[in-house]
Amino acid sequence: MPFAEICGQDRPVALLRRAWAGGRLAQAYCFAGPPGVGKRTAALALAQAVNCLSPASAGMNQDACGTCRSCRRIAAGQHPDVILVTPLEKTVVTIEQVREVAARTGLRAYEGNVKVWIVDPADQMQEPAANAFLKTLEEPAGRSLFILVTTAFTRLLPTIRSRCQEVRFNPLGDEALRTILMRHGRSAEEAISAAALAEGSAERALGLDPAEERVRRERVVLETWGALDSIPALLDQAEQMGKDRGSLGTVLDILLAFTRDAAVATVGDACRALLPAERRAVVERVATGIPLSALLEIHQAQLEARRVLGLNAQARFTAERMLLRMRAAARGGTGGAS
Ligand SMILES: [Zn+2]
Repeated sequence: MPFAEICGQDRPVALLRRAWAGGRLAQAYCFAGPPGVGKRTAALALAQAVNCLSPASAGMNQDACGTCRSCRRIAAGQHPDVILVTPLEKTVVTIEQVREVAARTGLRAYEGNVKVWIVDPADQMQEPAANAFLKTLEEPAGRSLFILVTTAFTRLLPTIRSRCQEVRFNPLGDEALRTILMRHGRSAEEAISAAALAEGSAERALGLDPAEERVRRERVVLETWGALDSIPALLDQAEQMGKDRGSLGTVLDILLAFTRDAAVATVGDACRALLPAERRAVVERVATGIPLSALLEIHQAQLEARRVLGLNAQARFTAERMLLRMRAAARGGTGGAS
């Protein structure tokens, strides 16, 4: 996929295109950022760019054509000069794999201009493998470009980090996620739902089953809001939520998305009509009559829960505190347990 087709990563893509068009590419890059946001896609786009047989136009809009023999072979994973190094043994990139890279770096490119090595995930290189890789970086033969892909830049050896130019990739925005989902055949409505739950990751968005997600989302919203009716139910719900930190994160995302929907619906009929029908129905069932100010307080309570969960707060206590604040706000109080 040429650079022009990469969604939602304008800044890193522009940086790479400028460097390429200006003949100023570094010898080694580290593409760092959260999972599923397009790091490997960008690595392949760069591999296509440097090996394209007929790059389109010039200047800052220069790009791989995406259709020549070289571009097609890279996209299909069949180009002999573009080598993807991924973990073979369980989750580890072995020293043997790196040695093979080193041996082949010395050979001339078969048919491309530039040999491109993509190590993904680079943080899965154990220390011996990383040290062997470092040697390759120090003494590359021929024209080679190294791209390390990682979700954890700081887990790479400092000696490797210092030899790579870091390129940051950020979580994808909702619009980019929706575009990617629709490219993969999702309806506009499914794309909106999945994008709202994907935490900026296209990989995660594509892994969601829209129908299952809809049911799950409704259940979470109904159970949580239902539990605000009485303190014993609220404490039970907090206990359930606190059993699994990982799923509490997802539950918080669902609640946040719902609260945004409910806030939108308070603005007026025209805004309510913008919500997909099934989400509108849940809002009407749960949050009718709750004023915007209370919904904003509830949104704050949920954001705060997500923040402290990220700081390793105890999951059950975090859920309990959030639910108490939600209950107070929904009943017209000022916020409860803060
Ligand atoms: Zn091409």
